[in-house]
Amino acid sequence: MVLADLGRRINNAVGNVTKSNVVDADVISNMLKEICNALLESDVNIKLVAQLREKIRKQIDAEDKPGINKKKLIQKVVFDELVKLVDCNEAELFKPKKKQTNVIMMVGLQGAGKTTTCTKLAVYYQRRGFKVGMVCGDTFRAGAFDQLKQNATKAKIPYYGSYTETDPVKVTFDGVEEFRKEKFEIIIVDTSGRHRQEEDLFEEMVQIGKAIKPNQTIMVLDASIGQSAESQSKAFKESSDFGAIIITKMDSNSKGGGALSAIAATNTPVAFIATGEHIQNFEKFSGRGFISKLLGIGDIEGLMEHVQSMNLDQGDTIKNFKEGKFTLQDFQTQLNNIMKMGPLSKLAQMLPGGMGQLMGQVGEEEASKRLKRMIYIMDSMTKQELASDGRLFIDQPSRMVRVARGSGTSVTEVELVLLQQKMMARMALQSKNMMSGAGGPGGMA
Ligand code: GDP
Repeated sequence: MVLADLGRRINNAVGNVTKSNVVDADVISNMLKEICNALLESDVNIKLVAQLREKIRKQIDAEDKPGINKKKLIQKVVFDELVKLVDCNEAELFKPKKKQTNVIMMVGLQGAGKTTTCTKLAVYYQRRGFKVGMVCGDTFRAGAFDQLKQNATKAKIPYYGSYTETDPVKVTFDGVEEFRKEKFEIIIVDTSGRHRQEEDLFEEMVQIGKAIKPNQTIMVLDASIGQSAESQSKAFKESSDFGAIIITKMDSNSKGGGALSAIAATNTPVAFIATGEHIQNFEKFSGRGFISKLLGIGDIEGLMEHVQSMNLDQGDTIKNFKEGKFTLQDFQTQLNNIMKMGPLSKLAQMLPGGMGQLMGQVGEEEASKRLKRMIYIMDSMTKQELASDGRLFIDQPSRMVRVARGSGTSVTEVELVLLQQKMMARMALQSKNMMSGAGGPGGMA
């Protein structure tokens, strides 16, 4: 089952609780059964699923007090426990420091997407003002250096490698030293792809580690390999003791649950996820953001992080969001930013309320057209309307007609914009409440 289906099934399971008249033990058991089946079919490890079921059950019992809205409580507990499943020790994640050398060593199976990911990571840090270089330590695979060179050149990242040197320990050591001398702040070292059985290759990885002394070792894990993700990451953990994971190919029609199991099994934080072959298909991972997107709630915080990294105008959105507000003006700013960033269908998934799924289904061109029409609608609003939470349109439906006419769209489309903005405003408020511990997520179903 692909991740989108997993999200839909979990949503439906929780939705059935919301729809039922009485929330008794049977209803909760049915919901848990459906959630667990969906996770198992997505290749999440059976032990983890069993643990999750017990945790959800216990947490519902523990928090169920007289007067509490049980349906909301169940939504919140399911959401929180799913987040905990993928969110481990984010605080422990390595944060490179400016004006010093940070060496990052990438490990992982051949074909996992290591070389591609090295470049994405390099660009990520370069955009944040670091001086970044890449070293090719894969002397095992013919063409590996050419591939890294090609990627690095395209992304304008300095690189180091050798066509003649066959000792990966020497190449990586020399490369790191050269960049270190030139005061590079981040040096990303690509190593050769390894197979679990090939012990001598694992030994080589240990030797490279000893030689270059990385500040951070990252394992690159292919989301599409299913159940074996767990055993593979455990094997890597034994020899390289990586401190972070990057999951690649989250875009593929894969189950993805195996990768989720691997995160939990190695108890290692996921630093980033890759969602395609292109440089921009790379995002910082957050458990909350990931589960929110999985369940179609959207990931406004992720979107804002992305916008910040591109140095685009944020207007008052961050300030407003922190205050639990999200005005039409904020919506307009974010849509304009999305148009500049692309690819649209992926970014739109960061918006809540099923908009992402809708955009994902219609393809780039249609998604772009629809977003543009939404922007035209907001362009036709007055300053006062934009600064509002949209409620004034309810008192003045004639304004909706005017805005539709002014933007060359329909009243239904104007209503859709208002609905989207309302959902985001609700998310902003929930996010603020959650930060202050006053409530949980809503709108899951
Ligand atoms: P390496 O052997 O681990 O260095 O893997 P490569 O970087 O050569 O990638 C193997 C293949 O996976 C290439 O065709 C990449 O374009 C592709 N790839 C890498 N990351 C992603 C991703 O996030 N999504 C998809 N769909 N393909 C990816």
